[in-house]
Amino acid sequence: MRFTNLTRATEIGANSYLLETGGRKLVLDCGMHPKREGEEALPNLRLVPDGALDAILVSHSHLDHIGSLPVLMRRQPQSRVFMTPATASLGEALLHNSINVMAKQAAPANGNGHGHHERGRGASNASLLFTHREADEYTQVWQPCHQRQLWSLEGERIVRPEEAAVSFEFFDAGHILGSSGILLRAEGRRFFYTGDVNFVDQTISRAASFPAPEDGPIDVLVIETTRGDHPAPKGVTREDEQARLARAMKEVFAREGAVLIPVFALGKTQEMLATFLQFKQQGLLGDVPIYIGGLSTKMTEIYDRFAGSSPRRLPGLSLLHSVAPYVLSGRAASEEPIKPRRIYALSSGMMTEHTLSNVFARRMLSDRRHAIFFVGYADPVSPAGVLRAAKPGDMVRLDDEAPEQELRCQVDVFDFSAHAQRETILDYIRKVQPKKVVLVHGDPGAVEWFQATLKELEPAMEVIVPPAGVALEL
Ligand SMILES: [Zn+2]
Repeated sequence: MRFTNLTRATEIGANSYLLETGGRKLVLDCGMHPKREGEEALPNLRLVPDGALDAILVSHSHLDHIGSLPVLMRRQPQSRVFMTPATASLGEALLHNSINVMAKQAAPANGNGHGHHERGRGASNASLLFTHREADEYTQVWQPCHQRQLWSLEGERIVRPEEAAVSFEFFDAGHILGSSGILLRAEGRRFFYTGDVNFVDQTISRAASFPAPEDGPIDVLVIETTRGDHPAPKGVTREDEQARLARAMKEVFAREGAVLIPVFALGKTQEMLATFLQFKQQGLLGDVPIYIGGLSTKMTEIYDRFAGSSPRRLPGLSLLHSVAPYVLSGRAASEEPIKPRRIYALSSGMMTEHTLSNVFARRMLSDRRHAIFFVGYADPVSPAGVLRAAKPGDMVRLDDEAPEQELRCQVDVFDFSAHAQRETILDYIRKVQPKKVVLVHGDPGAVEWFQATLKELEPAMEVIVPPAGVALEL
């Protein structure tokens, strides 16, 4: 079994991994780096010879896992592509959106179309890496596979793993709609890739439901380490954080302010809409209007479409019907007056330049009545990271082309992460007791914490940090 990390560095970038086993070659995930441009935004796909792949398996539809799939498919036209039905629906919509963003960046003379998108101009991809026509053609080929079904890499439903040289099975990862860990069986061994995972319930997503240890040992575990660089805050539950957020919003509305919540269009938007609905049902929030962006609306439609057929809490809930958010256009975000007692849940989550949340935040920043509440991960060098690190009265700049502004509005951070805390990841690794654990999807500090901690607690376990582009025999 040979494993090659196609991600270009030890980082949360363009996630992609090549696995050679049972006489087959397959790639797990094919993401796009959120901050790099052109070729540098892609995984190191040159390490996979053209036409050599048997299969591509996608864990979930966030762009850092699916964003450059069309580029890989162009080089591997014979390869089968597998993902859950929900990942296929979300992924198709996101890829088309990402093409529009690339097209606008490649033709700045046509204006930048202020901020409908997850990837703003600051995260530019100066060239069009693939086209709408290619995306249409390639998504036709995707083969949707439900979770907890056994498949061969040839795309056949099978009953026993022995029927195929390499078999696979998706397990719910609890991260976003459709997200899955992938169990591969080959050469009499079991290999499990978690993708992005959450081991506790969110408001919509249920905690991950991974293979049980009774079903057999995992020989190789490839696991994400996003939150490895900081401990979980002690004794703080999701319920505590929800209560704190509801209280904080009430205070803002009492002083005639509005609340901006920067969110990712996919996943966090829908979790927060469901949370606001619960606040309203519990009488914590009155009849406060909620605004989201166009891409978030598209993603929410797909969540609603799968509300009856995906493993989740609040089954059957239609967010667009029950929460009935208003859709905020790019023009409205930059021009219309900011109304008091409103929630603006706008993407992007990291407030990338020229996205709705960045444009909107700059209009709120110097007004004491308003508040910006963060509910998820932000890269420290992103505009959201800069704002989170600032103190009241500091001069901050959220866009290189805009003037500095004095920070006067309220800024606070709430923990609603869709990623597992490092303690729960560590518990899972120790419960599974894989012979080899491969640490991915984390910055160096995060990976190092796991490496050091496992060395101390599980000295017999082989812990591997896969260097970029090096084939490892596992
Ligand atoms: Zn993700």
